[in-house]
Order: sequence, then structure tokens, then C-alpha cells
Amino acid sequence: MIIVMAPGHTEEELQAVVDRMQLLAYRAHIIRGVERTVIGAVGHEDKTPLVVLEQMRGVEATIPIMKPFKLASSEWKKQPTTIEVGDAKIGGEEIIVIAGPGVVESEEQVFEVAHAIKGVGVKLLRGCVYSYYMSPYTETEFEPSKLGVLEKVRAETGLKIVTEVFSAKDMEAIGERADVVQIGARNCQNYALLRLAGRLRKPIFIKRGMATTIREFLMAAEYILSEGNSQVILCECGIRTFENETPFSLDLNAVPTIKGQCHLPVFVDPSHGTGRRNLVGPMARAAIAAGADGLMIEVHPHPDQAVVDGAQSLRPQQFVELMEGLRLMATAVGRKL
Ligand code: PEP
Ligand code: MN
Repeated sequence: MIIVMAPGHTEEELQAVVDRMQLLAYRAHIIRGVERTVIGAVGHEDKTPLVVLEQMRGVEATIPIMKPFKLASSEWKKQPTTIEVGDAKIGGEEIIVIAGPGVVESEEQVFEVAHAIKGVGVKLLRGCVYSYYMSPYTETEFEPSKLGVLEKVRAETGLKIVTEVFSAKDMEAIGERADVVQIGARNCQNYALLRLAGRLRKPIFIKRGMATTIREFLMAAEYILSEGNSQVILCECGIRTFENETPFSLDLNAVPTIKGQCHLPVFVDPSHGTGRRNLVGPMARAAIAAGADGLMIEVHPHPDQAVVDGAQSLRPQQFVELMEGLRLMATAVGRKL
């Protein structure tokens, strides 16, 4: 629920409301706006506290939040959330692009991609820092030296680092060194991992699971927010459907659907979402048209030799050309890129 304090209320009245909320087993978050102070309360769904709190001095109104995701909902926070990572303001007027290879393979590989993307104004570099991956017969271990490569590139180019944490045991080590921590599609509903991400003080980039409904996705974000981390970025990256021309179907419905009920920035990943290089451009443009706040795009100097995801990776020159078209599209929808 949301408690709206009356104009001119005193600090004592505010504190009394917070104390009473705690007695009623709610967690109170005070939000001081320009015109009004409101208190958000997260707890059980019982209606009685609304009546009790509404009677208190200094309280103007109490409003229940209907959605099960409270902190993620626009009922809770009407203004869009913006998240600053270096010079990039995510969720603002500018559409933010995150680009880079699927996996960090070598220094040369990452430097080549980094110079190309930086040349066209990209501010955030992606790259997975695990040995690969997704087979019971191959190790999937965090390799600190791969993160070291990203750090070196960051030091030389100024690009900020977005990288995935696969496992709870690596959350702290990667959380300290990355600028944005990614939770991958396969961990979207790994609640233990989400809670840990919620305890970091770094932005979290969470990808929608391939069989996760929009509501479940927003509840996943709620796990992070409920631990006190308000910097959450959502990313649509394709869901499983009966269609098998492409490994996933990019669900662009999700963009306006989420933005209609949630204040967090929404990204689209047309690389993983289509699995095909020739579809990345059209779907990236479509994502901007649908209202996405940003894009994540895979770029590899030699996609045919890539350890993973070569079929969906753009060559640096293709990425440079794509960015020109994306700029036109951004302008068409009243945004910048
Ligand atoms: C990735 O971004 O490299 C990745 C593995 O993505 P997803 O979680 O969407 O598969
Ligand atoms: Mn990938």
C-alpha cells in the first residue's frame, strides 16, 4: 500500500506512521517527492492496516497496490527509474546500447570489438567471463582472468562492463569488479541468486527466462528490489514458442506491456532473441519502435570462429552500420541514440 502524507505534516507524524506500520508487520519506504511525501509499505495483503493508518494524524490517504509486484509497479512509483552507469543514463531519453562478444575469448578479440563499438558512441561493453558452458560435460567456471581482460579494456577505453553471474559463489567477486551485473535467462527465477543480487549495490541487468511469463519476470525483479537494490534493468531476450524457424521468438509485446505497469527500464536483446544475425537489425529497430530503453547486441570480430553464439553475432562493421539505422529509428520515436 501507499500512504500519502498531507501537505504540512510534521516529522513526528511521519515517524509515528512508520512506527505503526512496523508494528503491523509492514516494511516502510519513505519517498520524499517535490510536492508530497509518500510511504510505501510492503507486507501482507490484509486490508485492516489501511483503515488504521488512514486515521492517523498527518495522513491524507492510503492506497492499496493491487499488483503482486509492489516495488516494481508503477502504482508504487509513477516516474520512470533512471540508472546511471558512467556517462550512460539508462531509462532516460537516450537509448542505451550494450554491445560485445558472447564470451571473452582473448584480449585482441575484446579490444577489436571495444574500439569498433566505442567509435559509434556505445558506452557499455558486454562479455561473459566464464569458461563455457551449458553442458554437464564442460566446466562452467568463473575465470577471473577473463574479467581482468574486461577491466583492462575499461581502463583503456572508458567502456563500462556488463557481465553475467552464473552462480551464488561468484556474486561478490564479480559484483565488486563489474559495473552492471547480469542475471541470465536461465537464472531468471533462481530466487536465491536474485536475493544476493538484491544485496549488491550495483545495477542488475536481468534477462527474462525463456518460459517465464511477464508477471513472473516482474516478480523476479521484485526479489531484487525487495532486498534494497533499486537499480534493476529488465531485458526481453526471446521466449520458447512452437515456432522453430528461430531458436526463440522475440516477444516485443513484452516491452509496452511491462512499461505500462512497471517503472524500470526495459531492454531488448535481438541477438539471443532471434539467434540469427540477419534478424538482429530488423528486430533491433522494431524494439526501439516498441519503446525499448536499450538494446543488448552481440558483436564478434570472427563470428564463424566464436566459441558460442557465432550465428547471432554481428561483425564489427555490421554493427557500425546497424547503429546508423538505429539512430534514425530513435529520432523517429522522439528519442536519442
Ligand atoms: C548472454 O547474454 O550471453 C546469455 C547467455 O544470455 P541469455 O541468458 O539470454 O541466454
Ligand atoms: Mn551469448
